[in-house]
Amino acid sequence: MPMELKTEKDGGAEMKKIYIIMTSILLCIICVVVGISIFLKQDEVVQQPKEKISKKQVLSDKEQPSSSNEGKKVAYLTIDDGPTEYMSKILTALKKENVKATFFLVGNRITGDRKKDIKEAAEEGHSIGLHSMSHVAKRLYKDKQFIPEIEKESKLLNTILDKKTKLVRAPYGSTYLNDDQVGQLKKDKYRLLDWNIDSEDWKHKGKPEKMVSFIKEELNKFKKISPVILIHETEDLLKAIPDLVKTIRAKGFELKPYFEDNNFHLNFKKDPQL
Ligand SMILES: [Zn+2]
Repeated sequence: MPMELKTEKDGGAEMKKIYIIMTSILLCIICVVVGISIFLKQDEVVQQPKEKISKKQVLSDKEQPSSSNEGKKVAYLTIDDGPTEYMSKILTALKKENVKATFFLVGNRITGDRKKDIKEAAEEGHSIGLHSMSHVAKRLYKDKQFIPEIEKESKLLNTILDKKTKLVRAPYGSTYLNDDQVGQLKKDKYRLLDWNIDSEDWKHKGKPEKMVSFIKEELNKFKKISPVILIHETEDLLKAIPDLVKTIRAKGFELKPYFEDNNFHLNFKKDPQL
């Protein structure tokens, strides 16, 4: 009996050992599986955004022809919503940096001395574009006054510049235009230019250096396609010009004005005829 008891005890201890070993092996397997899956997941997290950026870049490079000129990459600085009291000083600052830009002007602001500034800008080689008379979204898009306002502004600028301006930027972007308005622009041979870098200057109001570093980051996404930078005619822009120009040039871009006969088209409608 005592022998039997001992064997039973031994058998119990043996079972316990096997149980512990099996449990340990099982735990090890679980640890390895969990470890591998965490590792793979981490890899996914790191790789996903990279893939997204590269896909997007390939897509935009295919969609838009490169406008590089003799191997040099070109960037366009487009200055919206003037003329303002800063226009004359902005022209001086651009001259100092030997930069030509593109101004999209609001017709209702073209009064008094501003007319002289516009004339001076055009004479110095900057491009002048139309940006509607009122810049009021409801009027332009809901009340369908976009085309009449562009025609009115074109006539107004013609009296100052003695040439018919055919370059247009739709306030808030061409996405707001309906098919009739796009058709009319094309029929009248206007060139519409949207943008691919929004400086988001309104977010960095009073901090021109922040706006410059934001644009610097954005420029890293442009390998082939030309950056078209949207910026507003403000005191911040005036202060930012020296650093902004230095930053854009340091990224390998040459700054040029955009005229209506440019063979590089950029519009949110993805229309090569617009
Ligand atoms: Zn605007």
